[in-house]
Amino acid sequence: MTPARARLAGLSRSGLADALAAAGVPVERRRMRATQLFHWIYHRGARDIDAMTTISKDLRDALAAAHEVGRDEVAREERSADGTIKWLVRLADGAEVETVYIPEVDRGALCVSTQVGCTLNCSFCHTGTQPWVRNLEPAEIVGQVLLARDALGEWPTPVHGRKISNIVLMGMGEPLYNYDNVVAALRLMMDEEGISISRRRITVSTAGVVPQIGPLGDDTGAGLAVSLHAVRDDVRDELVPLNRKYPIAELIAACRAYPGASNARRITFEYAMLRGVNDSLADAKELARLIAGIPAKVNLIPFNPWPGSVYGTSEDATMAAFSESLNRAGYSAPIRVPRGRDILAACGQLKSDSQRVRASARAEAAAAAPV
Ligand code: SAH
Repeated sequence: MTPARARLAGLSRSGLADALAAAGVPVERRRMRATQLFHWIYHRGARDIDAMTTISKDLRDALAAAHEVGRDEVAREERSADGTIKWLVRLADGAEVETVYIPEVDRGALCVSTQVGCTLNCSFCHTGTQPWVRNLEPAEIVGQVLLARDALGEWPTPVHGRKISNIVLMGMGEPLYNYDNVVAALRLMMDEEGISISRRRITVSTAGVVPQIGPLGDDTGAGLAVSLHAVRDDVRDELVPLNRKYPIAELIAACRAYPGASNARRITFEYAMLRGVNDSLADAKELARLIAGIPAKVNLIPFNPWPGSVYGTSEDATMAAFSESLNRAGYSAPIRVPRGRDILAACGQLKSDSQRVRASARAEAAAAAPV
């Protein structure tokens, strides 16, 4: 077996400089070399150190002795009839997450996961039925963008006409419960010398981890989406149990104070339409009252069923009336057309089979394995 090499993809410039130091590059050349590596990895999409032809063969060999560029493995690719693509990504330890590409006519969004499983257990979300496994590393988060660009043939980073024009952290997991790694990954996605997706085109979705909302705005300038789904605490406690810790009033106050929110950069409130649960006209009116004064739009998401789900999707007429009521209150509230439902790639349908392997079980398996 070849010994595992350290990965370069996922490192910042200073991490790359450390790798160069380990490969014997003298201190005064590290910065320049790190810039070159950064360009190859995040702008050109190089998957092999040996392809980095602006770097001398000797240095490439020295680097490759202990490093690789590094990609996780696509274990499965599924394509929806509507063009949506879902990749099951197998991480180095065997855990799996899903990444979804949602194409539009002249652009497209990549929906990225931030955790294996999720701790939140929202009652209407498929990922919530999966046990919590672990946080993703920055390399595993930004790695999903690299993999998607590989699959779509989108290297080097195009200036115009991008297939992946937007990134949404709306896959598996709660981004604000993996805060440091998410911020590190966002910085790599936004870097203009690399992947170069503007913070204006990146949205982080949270179920409402109130203390991290302000810092996210300060640290990244990313757009904010909030999974609201209910306007009364008793209902939201059921749908999004995190509400018991951070109730609606606190969540709305954090949104009101979100750094950088403006009419040009509105906060998105996500609202899954669940038949008979949260879809009355009284709910719509209360929603408008709650968010009054916040530069916001509301995304009405028809509930996406999954195997074993107990909720129903609201009637079309109910959703139309709900949307209309918000419009009258001055809020844009489009009913989202579900994408990729046929391959379980739509909002709230993602799930992988990864189980948390306890340290004791891992040790047992290792002891039982033939030497
Ligand atoms: N944990 C973060 C990121 C997940 S984003 C968050 O909660 O915001 C995924 C979005 O899909 C969330 O708004 C989630 O509430 C919503 N969702 C979950 N299950 C759904 C379902 N079955 N139908 C429609 N939307 C769902």
